[in-house]
Amino acid sequence: CGISAYIGHREAYPIVINGLKRLEYRGYDSAGVMIFDGEKMQLSKTKGKVSELEKITDAEEERKVGNIGMGHTRWATHGVPNDVNSHPHTSQSGDLVIVHNGIIENYDTIKKELITRGYTFKSDTDTEVLVNLIQEVKDTEGCKLGKAVQLALTNVVGAYAISVFDKNKPNELVIARLGSPIAIGVGKDNKEFFIASDASPFVEYTKDAIYLEDEEMAIIKLGKGVKVHKIHDDSRVDPTIQKLQM
Ligand code: GLU
Repeated sequence: CGISAYIGHREAYPIVINGLKRLEYRGYDSAGVMIFDGEKMQLSKTKGKVSELEKITDAEEERKVGNIGMGHTRWATHGVPNDVNSHPHTSQSGDLVIVHNGIIENYDTIKKELITRGYTFKSDTDTEVLVNLIQEVKDTEGCKLGKAVQLALTNVVGAYAISVFDKNKPNELVIARLGSPIAIGVGKDNKEFFIASDASPFVEYTKDAIYLEDEEMAIIKLGKGVKVHKIHDDSRVDPTIQKLQM
């Protein structure tokens, strides 16, 4: 399973898809991609290989244009491998989108609570529960995406690498890690960022990588940079930028 995402000035689709191909060695049963063009989220996902996904996105009406993208290869844990259960998953309002590797162990309890608050679910995944929990926290607390992700994660038992995007805040990605790897490739002058399960998807674009540790999350802002802090106690972490040798 793997995560490949991009935010910057280049076309995101080829970067995200080629990134997913480099992560294929990690194993998976489904693949999906979301590209944002400043207005709408263009989403395609399918059971099967990244090459199956490309067959879909090759069609004229499925062509994806935009400078922000998130891709995922899924190894199903909750819900059978099928198109609907494939990632990315959107929140009910359609504002948030997530890719997730790992397991949310208490998803059932959270799902029941969200259902009593009027949420409905399209998939059988734990991941769709998480993105709606983030949405619910964001709406009820009236906080920013980073804070909503943090508060939601403090209610979660499990393991994860996640990347979350809010279409109302298109200069920002929020990522977090507990038990599953995730790395950030930092582009020149913070003008672009690459997110991936390991550095192989972005090594030809940048040699500057930040590897999140367990219990850490990062708020990545175009033009500004990367802020890393602990998920559970809010303390700031000075991210170490590693020079890739590849
Ligand atoms: N638990 C999630 C699911 O079943 C993510 C699985 C994965 O790591 O790819 O959809």
